[in-house]
Amino acid sequence: MTTNDDTEALMAAANYLPKFDTLEEERLHRKQRLAAAYRLFGKFGFDEGIAGHITARDPERLDHFWVNPFGMNFSHIRVSDLILVNDTGEVVEGDYGVNTAAFVIHSQVHAARPDVIAAAHAHSIYGKSWSALGRLLDPITQDVCAFHEDHALFDDYTGVVLDLEEGKRLAHALGGGKAVILRNHGLLTVGHSVDEAAWWFITMERSCQAQLLASAAGDPVLIEPEMAKLTASQVGSHVSGYLSFQPLYEKIVREQPDLLD
Ligand SMILES: [Zn+2]
Repeated sequence: MTTNDDTEALMAAANYLPKFDTLEEERLHRKQRLAAAYRLFGKFGFDEGIAGHITARDPERLDHFWVNPFGMNFSHIRVSDLILVNDTGEVVEGDYGVNTAAFVIHSQVHAARPDVIAAAHAHSIYGKSWSALGRLLDPITQDVCAFHEDHALFDDYTGVVLDLEEGKRLAHALGGGKAVILRNHGLLTVGHSVDEAAWWFITMERSCQAQLLASAAGDPVLIEPEMAKLTASQVGSHVSGYLSFQPLYEKIVREQPDLLD
């Protein structure tokens, strides 16, 4: 049951969300979180060649987003390496190119969801394995309840996403939720901060792993729908997603401080 204490704790947490005096400060903060998220994806082994991207909307030019330089390993990305891409796919800041699939998918997600600051997609092993089953995740653990009635399935596969119409269809499948499983492809998550989008991706990947493990061993017991709904309100909020990322941010900055360069 949610207690008044829990509600107060969440409201207090909301007050810890960063506030900025200038757009420059906010931009730098987003880029630092973005570089850190890439390092964490690298550390967790979510990279697969040149596939996978995390994007952060620019706080001023709202139809532009920051993304990784084409072909650079996630584990090497620094703040100064990030590139800014406009709404037609042109790189307007930075010395590198952008992956076409990254532009096609992420530009359409950012366009369809003005509330979304960041989107994360990668070809991580458990996410893509689960995606091959063509079904949603079940409420079998407390953690996966973050996605209860808040994730969707893009039940189609038509090759590498290089066509803007396909990007639009994918964004339509995402709807108003925090995540979409792209059948035969992988996971995509979004958030009101880079922190949140990255956290949902990390915990969703692990939730795919958990369900694959549990299902391989037997028949998982499902959490009752009412309890799943309650748990979703506890672990699935924007603040909860933001807060869950903070220990990982602290860890990666301490381990790899050059990411802030
Ligand atoms: Zn992909």
